[in-house]
Formats: sequence, C-alpha cells, structure tokens
Amino acid sequence: CQAPGEPLTDFIANKVASHPCYSRSGHHRFARMHLPVAPACNLQCNYCNRKFDCSNESRPGVSSSLLTPEQAVAKVRQVATAIPQLSVVGIAGPGDPLANIGRSFKTLELIREQLPDLKLCLSTNGLMLPDAVDRLLEVGVDHVTVTINTLDPDIAAQIYAWLWLDGERYSGREAGKILVARQLEGVRRLTEKGVLVKINSVLIPGINDHSLVDVSRTLQQYGAFIHNIMPLIARPEHGTVFGLNGQPEPDAAMLAATREQCGEVMPQMTHCQQCRADAIGMLGEDRSQQFLFTPTETA
Ligand code: SF4
Ligand code: SF4
Repeated sequence: CQAPGEPLTDFIANKVASHPCYSRSGHHRFARMHLPVAPACNLQCNYCNRKFDCSNESRPGVSSSLLTPEQAVAKVRQVATAIPQLSVVGIAGPGDPLANIGRSFKTLELIREQLPDLKLCLSTNGLMLPDAVDRLLEVGVDHVTVTINTLDPDIAAQIYAWLWLDGERYSGREAGKILVARQLEGVRRLTEKGVLVKINSVLIPGINDHSLVDVSRTLQQYGAFIHNIMPLIARPEHGTVFGLNGQPEPDAAMLAATREQCGEVMPQMTHCQQCRADAIGMLGEDRSQQFLFTPTETA
C-alpha cells in the first residue's frame, strides 16, 4: 500500500488517473456519473438523510429519483454520448448498494456488457462487503469507497442506531463490533486483489474527531489508497437524529486540522464535492437535470 508521498506503480497510477475523485488532475479531465438504483439500507447512521445519498456524500438539494437497472444503463448510454469525458460510473445510493444486491449487480453487469470501457465504482457502508467481494471482482469493479467513521465500537454506538445482519437486528457496542470487523475484512480482501479502495469518514465533532487518525493509520495498513474526511451535515430541517439533537457541525479549522493530522499517515482527498446519488458531470458540476430519464429510452 502507498504511504503519503510514495510513488505509485503503473498499475495503480492508471486506475487513479482516470477517476476524478482519486486524482487531483483527473478531476479536471474526467467526468463521473452516479446511478440511484439502491433504495434500501441495512444500517442506520444518525446523520443520514436518505433523500440525498448514502454516506453523507450529499448536499442539500432535491432528492434523486430511483432508476431500475435497465433505466440506469439506458441513461449511461445517453450520458456517454453527450459527455465524452465520462470515465467512471458508480452506485452510491440513495441507500447502501450492497443492501440492494440484485439491483446493484444487475446494473453493473449491464454496464459491463454494453459499455465495457467505463470504469465501475461503488460506495458502501461495508457491512455486506465480505460477502460481495468475489462478485465485485467478477464484474470488474475497479474502485470501492467504504465509509468508516471509527474503529472503536463504543464510538460506533454513538454514530449508528442499529444494523441488520442475517435477519437479526443489532445495536450499541455489539453492532459497532460487527460493523468494524466486517468493514476491515472487506477492505483487506479487496486491496489484496488490487481494487482501489477509498475510505470516507464523516467528521463528527466531539464524537469521532480524535479517532479519525486511527482510521487513517489502520486503513493505510489494510491497503486503502486515500482517505476522504467529510464534514458532518446536521441541520434540523434535514430531520436526522444528529440534526434534531443539535449535534454541531465541524468548522473549517477543525476539518483542516483533522485532515492535516490524518495526512501524516495516509493521503487525503480534499476536493470531494459531497455529490448527490444521481450526480453527473465533472466534479464541481451537476448536469443531472439535463439527463432526466424518459421511459421510451429503456434498453
Ligand atoms: Fe444512510 Fe448510507 Fe448510513 Fe445507510 S449507510 S443510513 S444510506 S448514510
Ligand atoms: Fe467523488 Fe466525493 Fe463526488 Fe463521491 S461525493 S463522486 S468521492 S467528489
């Protein structure tokens, strides 16, 4: 795995360069597209507003509409024609892609069949990752983002209300232990096979601000490529537990200090735009309204 400042191998450098989120230079040259095909979730984060996108990769705005796998691939074909810089198509919500295995893999398989040159990307909370690694490799997913907010089950108990696994509901410390163990196992197995893994963390003042450096250090050892620390969005109008309970958001100084501290052990992403689940275009722009799906375009 790569330490800050260490040169990349050609194999990794190629994967990095073509993904606008992994490469600073790539984000001016390549476009990404998110497909909102995954409505359900198996975890309840206290900061989640499912109207936007999973993993707090969201900014206030209109909610994305849900697409079927067939509608999604039709839309990818339309966008690939209109935006030749399109290099990456990802599934990031609005729930967790791996809590919607059928819909997510059907979408990835259709894109792989019909548009084999596009890179595939997926974002997950990591709970079902160990069960999905083989299938992700089989369909050729190059980039996986895992949201890991802490490695400490006691802190996890303050961030997550509950999780569902194999028909059982877990909460508190027990849920935290299960989630962290499965996230780490999933990341290890992906990086062993050369998949580029990005870690997202939501910075929550007073809860995980002091423990994110442990996330950076450990995940760097597990082979993750880059850490993307995002500020918590917790406004009362979003109706999230944190928003309603008055949980403070981090200020710019706390965000910069946390990134700097974590940057000593793992490369940091600082150009994340906290895109919606249906974002389209270069980073920093969203052309989703230009490509509203019409049913006659179904594949
Ligand atoms: Fe929301 Fe994603 Fe958390 Fe699920 S994993 S509750 S969709 S932020
Ligand atoms: Fe990239 Fe951040 Fe947008 Fe995800 S939310 S596509 S990491 S810029």
